[in-house]
Amino acid sequence: MRRFLFFAMAAAIILFSVIVNGAAPQKKVAFITIDDGPTLNTPNIIETLKAHKAGAAFFVLKDRIETYPDYIRMMENEGFTIGLHGVSHNGDIYATPTSPLNEMNETNDALYRLLGRRSMVVRTPFGSKPSLTDRQRELLTAAGYCIFDWNVDPRDSIGAVVDKEAVLRNLKEGLEDAGPTAVILLHDRKSTADNLDRILTLVEEAGYEFGTLDENTVF
Ligand SMILES: [Zn+2]
Repeated sequence: MRRFLFFAMAAAIILFSVIVNGAAPQKKVAFITIDDGPTLNTPNIIETLKAHKAGAAFFVLKDRIETYPDYIRMMENEGFTIGLHGVSHNGDIYATPTSPLNEMNETNDALYRLLGRRSMVVRTPFGSKPSLTDRQRELLTAAGYCIFDWNVDPRDSIGAVVDKEAVLRNLKEGLEDAGPTAVILLHDRKSTADNLDRILTLVEEAGYEFGTLDENTVF
């Protein structure tokens, strides 16, 4: 009887909260994105992601696909998303109306030579806003590319020496502002690889589940 009363009360509380709030609480999803790889740090990053059962999208550079083909295969075999980040990784990518498309196609060709498939997920260096012109965006989109930026930047790639505690503070503040969907910008570098366990733990403690961003992701 006591047990019945407990369940009846619990049900009443849930019903009451649904009526008051209009719906059950919204699920919080965090998308981990890792730019500029692969590098020698990639295996370490993948191990830590797996330990947290976290998906991730890696936005990779053309020359690094060619330098570290085994790490690209590792991303592929472990089920991570491989996105494109271009060739020049400087202002050159924005030089002409067709240059972003050309760089992504060139990066895709390198991926195709390695894996026998292409990727339609891209992140342009420094973010698409305001870097991409309307015409450049139009050409990328018309070619079928999905362009993804971020809404949480823990600033893990500023300067030669990164303050790991500052990155965690930035992440915490960023998540507080992000709402239920967080797209987190990280970089394939040693300081982030060394800090990743704490980064992912913080995301979990903030109540997020991990999602994997891919060409089917719509915000
Ligand atoms: Zn980058």
